[in-house]
Amino acid sequence: MADYTIVLDPGHGGYNPGATYNGRQEKDDVLSLAFAVGDILKNYNINVLYTRWDDTDRSVYQRARDANWADADYFVSLHRNSSPIPNTYSGVETLVYNSFGPAATLADNINTQLEKIGFQNLGVNERPNLVVLNSTDMPAVLVEVGFINTDADNALFDERFYEIANAIADGILMTLYPEPVSGI
Ligand SMILES: [Zn+2]
Repeated sequence: MADYTIVLDPGHGGYNPGATYNGRQEKDDVLSLAFAVGDILKNYNINVLYTRWDDTDRSVYQRARDANWADADYFVSLHRNSSPIPNTYSGVETLVYNSFGPAATLADNINTQLEKIGFQNLGVNERPNLVVLNSTDMPAVLVEVGFINTDADNALFDERFYEIANAIADGILMTLYPEPVSGI
């Protein structure tokens, strides 16, 4: 019996590549990252579910419904950011329905861990109109893992891929299992 159920949601898929840059597609980056994060979490008695396993698109409503049916404890959507002009912005940003409560704590923990890898921390930002954030019954976050049209962020993504996966997993684990407050 697993302690927790976590849904990992690799954004986009199929005919929907997400953001693209020089042939690079967001849907591919986030699928491989989701599997890497899930492989780590499985070592911690966590039941890991994915909203997609391959290069197929699923609607955001289907993704939220999967998580609700699974009665998951947390929903973590993985994306890459993009800006109108390449190489303008850099860093990680995590989106939440509102910036307080357990989702915001999870978002802040993930950002903090990713900052240690070398990403700028662009903060936790409210995006109440996103379906995967407003139609999920459990705390939900959407992590924008660097800008896909910023070369420095892609270099970090590729060169430190497993550290990034570890950082996201650590952010989840420290939310599930907070350190006891030291002292008396
Ligand atoms: Zn996206």
